[in-house]
Amino acid sequence: MKERIKAYARSRGLSLFGVAPPERFAGLPENVNPAAILPEVRSIIVFGAPIMRGDYRGVEEGTLWSFASKYVGQRLVLELARFIEQEAGYEAVPYLAHFPRHAPRSRPVAGRPAHNVMLSLEYAAVAAGLGEISILGQLLTPEYGNRNALAIILTELELAPDPVFTGRLCDGLECGKCAAICPAGAINLAKTVSIDIGGRQTELAEINYNLCRLCPNGAAPDFINKVGQEELMYEFSGNQPQIVETSTALTRKNVPNIATAVCSRTCLDHLERTGRLGLKYANSFRDEAPWLLETWER
Ligand code: SF4
Ligand code: SF4
Repeated sequence: MKERIKAYARSRGLSLFGVAPPERFAGLPENVNPAAILPEVRSIIVFGAPIMRGDYRGVEEGTLWSFASKYVGQRLVLELARFIEQEAGYEAVPYLAHFPRHAPRSRPVAGRPAHNVMLSLEYAAVAAGLGEISILGQLLTPEYGNRNALAIILTELELAPDPVFTGRLCDGLECGKCAAICPAGAINLAKTVSIDIGGRQTELAEINYNLCRLCPNGAAPDFINKVGQEELMYEFSGNQPQIVETSTALTRKNVPNIATAVCSRTCLDHLERTGRLGLKYANSFRDEAPWLLETWER
């Protein structure tokens, strides 16, 4: 069954596919644990597709201010969940990142975590063997580096889990190019925290996300797509988005979308330049020093 689901996903352009057993989430608090959503969960399916490199081009040139989304479109998530239910006869819960205001305003159900339970795409992806989390906090996959749009389906169907990725893509302190390029000095490589995901140790640098929120070098809240736990929460006042609360990610708060910021684009260039990604392009991503603005120039 796993191969059939995977083949269906691939036929829809979803080339990233991995399965984690619930045991790899054991010990996580209820408000970020898949079992809080589906207590009988036997498989956490994490899947996705590369964000096109072309989505970064306009920002890299400093001319087109589009922002890459790290979410798979809702329609594809629902299609895959429906395929699992109809073909396998097991419940499949599509996990879609939510606007917090879509959660009920009532008190939480007695003994249950408050609305909404929100999963970390990056944590789940590592648990499902898709790659590693860089010191910058982004998922890196061997094929696409940090260009990954992801989604999660929880199902009662038991599928063979994929092994946790054991390779190394982020050079951490030996590289540090993301930190060196940041004009705001927001990334502190001297201060890191370590988390265990399915037996793999992940080192995360301390990042001052309040500086990232003000970053004029390609970072922004993601106003196009639904908000996940790593993104800023906002509501509209008139037609202006206003930040109303912040996220409750595992170790993070106030995290804007930095996918196309100069730190992330520098990481992408580094991963491609050092030849460690599977997908090769005819031309290099970057052929001159990137443009940079200081925070006060925002
Ligand atoms: S630039 Fe990328 S590979 Fe290098 S330390 Fe930063 S996150 Fe890791
Ligand atoms: S988003 Fe901007 S401020 Fe934050 S780490 Fe990246 S370059 Fe620095």
